[in-house]
Amino acid sequence: MAKKKILTIPNSILRKVSEPVTKIDTETKKLMDNMLETMYAAPGIGLAAVQIGVLKRVIVIDLSKADEKKDPLFIINPEIINKSNELASYEEGCLSIPNQFAEVKRPISCKISFLDYNGKKKEISANGLLATCIQHEIDHLNGILFIDHLSKLKKDLILKKTNKQKIKIDRVVV
Ligand code: ZN
Repeated sequence: MAKKKILTIPNSILRKVSEPVTKIDTETKKLMDNMLETMYAAPGIGLAAVQIGVLKRVIVIDLSKADEKKDPLFIINPEIINKSNELASYEEGCLSIPNQFAEVKRPISCKISFLDYNGKKKEISANGLLATCIQHEIDHLNGILFIDHLSKLKKDLILKKTNKQKIKIDRVVV
């Protein structure tokens, strides 16, 4: 396994639509292993392949707590079968938008089909945090970021703050 660099806004790759995986081979498994290591190191609870610059429809998620046994979920080519009408709010953040958080409303539950680490077709019904996390990551596969769900005012504020952070970092580097 190898830890990869996580792309951050305004990197234009984050806005591209990822391609379905056609064959789950050793390369795909290596990608998933690397994504998991990168996510754990960040640390984060979900990561889409596009966030390490690979435009494939692959997601890793692990909602286990620090003192619990790791419980990774590998999701390849996810399809949303249905979403609830009822919404839930979570304060979301994103490894590609460092240090910024905002409340996002999404369906409280969803059902998806996908291929697992070994290419086996599976379905899960997710609620609460898992449902939010899955929807956030599927958005990434379609070039959508959580800030796109906010009002223009809130989105602009976050973009402005991240620009400022970037300027600060660049100054230190120079
Ligand atoms: Zn994200």
